[in-house]
Formats: sequence, structure tokens, C-alpha cells
Amino acid sequence: MSSLYLHIPFCSRKCPYCDFFSQVGSQQQINDYVELLILNLQILKRDDSHPTPLNTIFFGGGTPSLLSVEQVGDILNKVAQTYGIASDAEITLEANPGTVNFEQLRGYYQAGINRLSLGIQSLNDQKLQLLGRIHSSSQARECIIAARAAGFENLSLDLMFALPDQDLLSLEEEISALLSFAPEHISLYGLSFEEGTEFYRQLQSGKLTACEENLYTEQYQLLHRQLVCAGFEHYEISNFARSDRRCHHNQVYWKREDCLAVGAGGHSFISRKWGTRWHIPENLQSYKEALWGGNNPAEKLETYHQQGAMKEFVYLALRTSDGVDLQEFEQKFNLPLQQVFPDALDKTRNYLDLPLTSGYCRFNLNGWLLYDHLISHFL
Ligand code: SF4
Repeated sequence: MSSLYLHIPFCSRKCPYCDFFSQVGSQQQINDYVELLILNLQILKRDDSHPTPLNTIFFGGGTPSLLSVEQVGDILNKVAQTYGIASDAEITLEANPGTVNFEQLRGYYQAGINRLSLGIQSLNDQKLQLLGRIHSSSQARECIIAARAAGFENLSLDLMFALPDQDLLSLEEEISALLSFAPEHISLYGLSFEEGTEFYRQLQSGKLTACEENLYTEQYQLLHRQLVCAGFEHYEISNFARSDRRCHHNQVYWKREDCLAVGAGGHSFISRKWGTRWHIPENLQSYKEALWGGNNPAEKLETYHQQGAMKEFVYLALRTSDGVDLQEFEQKFNLPLQQVFPDALDKTRNYLDLPLTSGYCRFNLNGWLLYDHLISHFL
């Protein structure tokens, strides 16, 4: 597998809960940035002998749907010239329903985007307002219908839960409404209050209250039940897919496979030896200066030794329903999992889906609910 992530760090407005690298950008800034991305691709290719063609491409952000159809087309042409794109590549673009119309979606589809990830977040107008989203629930619904009419057969919808004052009944109604559009994929995000965000400040001042732990658990279990009953596979802690519609790009991350990245804020991983991670600093000025000077803006974050690679492999695999394949682990690292992590396996055994004699180590639903705590035993 060979993959590419492109980060688009612009949004129409900053949502008060968001700590992603994104900012409000002028049209001129976005135009200039697209030229930088294209230069970034050229320089990356010059310095890197990565296998081609690409199997997955992901425009993430920020709000990639602030790019025009022509800009997306120009970028994809450059990607095709530099790395090549496999004929069956999965090419995803994240879109905010408040920024697109039918013509634009049709244009993206014709330019080669074949998977659309829509940031719906909620189908309740009060919740959308609370979240500071720029779209209404009717715009979200119209956008899903427009995406289908534009030709998208692979649609992923994002939904947030654990929102202030959200009860089980209203969440159940929202997920039912979402399912009426028969999406191929659903990603769930439990609201968290990240330091530095407006929501964090409001939490500190008592203006907002976080969802209680028990209610969070009940909401997560409800979503799991409803989506599994509707025929979805719960294939990662926060992701559900119809058969054969898992997100191939994200699976590359969870399997610790190679992924290149361009754009300020992008992270890449090369699995050679035990693996190396790189990142491009979240700074538009330094990004521009590096590229204009003919330099690759990526900086090395971490070079792994075997121990670190084994920990990270397990950390990522246990997020997924595939879990750790014990035979694969042993082949990769020349050591059995049970020998590397005896204490962690002992402490987490009540949360495993199957006994290790099955050949797999994977968490059950309760294990996923306690993932942050349980995984610490392996790190
Ligand atoms: S649209 Fe997405 S990336 Fe942009 S501020 Fe809102 S949550 Fe963050």
C-alpha cells in the first residue's frame, strides 16, 4: 500500500471545540497555499523514492471543500504526474456541508474524488448552533442528497455525541435520521474539551458541562447497537462501515503502513526498518519559507527501535476489530506477543473479545470504552 495525506488548514469559521490545525483563511491565502502544496509534492518526490502508484489519497483539514474544483483537479494532476495514482485508488475529500453545492460536488467527483467524508456532526439545529457549525440540519440533509446526485457511491458521515444536554432519545433519533440516507461509513466523535479551545474555557468557567461518564458509556453502547443492527461493522473504536467500505486510508495508519504527507500540519510515516515519523510544522510562514528555499518542510519526529515499534503496533491494532494477529506479530518482530507483553495481557484479559488461543488479541466493546486506560499497560 502506498498513501498520501494532504492537509488543508483553512476553515470558514473556527468551531469552538476544535483543536485541529486550521484557521480562517482569505481566498488569496488559499490560492497561494495550493501553489505551495504543488511545490511540496515536487520537492517530496525529488527527495523520496517511495513506491508508486498511490492506493489511497486523503484531503483532510481544516476544510478541504474550501478548495475549488479546479484546485482539487490541479493537485490531483500533480499527484498523478509525481507519484501516479492506482486505477482503483480510494480518493477521499472531507467536506463541510456549509461550503458546497451540487455543482461543486459534481466537479469534485469528475476530478477524481471517489469518497466523500461529510462533517455532518448533528442533524439537530440546536446542537449545530451550540457546536458553532456554519450549516443547519436542512443544509446537511440537502448536502447528502446532492452528494448522491453528484455520483458519490462511497459516503462517510461524521456524527458527534456526548454533547451537553444530549439525551439518549435525541441521539437515537439523530442516528436513525442519518441511517435514512444509507451511508456506506459513519465516524463517531465523542465531544472532548481540549485545552486551548473556546469550549475548554467555557467548561472551566462553568458555562458548559461535560457529559457524565455513565451517559457517555450509554450513548456509545446505543450507537454501537443501532449501527450494528443496521448492518454496519464496528471496525475501529470510532468507525463503522458497510461491508467492503472500511476507510482504506485510515487503515494504513492503524496497520502502521507507509503514508506520505504534504501541507502544513501533515504527518507522515515510513515503515522501513522499525519506522520513522515526520511532521510538517503547523506554521504557514515557515512552510512557505522552506518550500521557496527549495527545501522539504518535513521534520523528523521519531525513529523507532524494535521495542517502540512493537508498542505502537499493538497500540494501533487494538483500536481495530481485527486486533493483533498473533502470527503476524511474531513474524514481524520475531517474538511472540505473549512473551513481550505478559503483564499487560494479564491485566487486560477480561476485556479481550476472544481467548488468545484463537490466534488474535482484540478488545471487546467494554475494552474499547476503557481503551485509554487499558492501553497504558502496553506502553
Ligand atoms: S470545520 Fe472542522 S476543522 Fe474546521 S474548525 Fe470546525 S471542526 Fe475544526
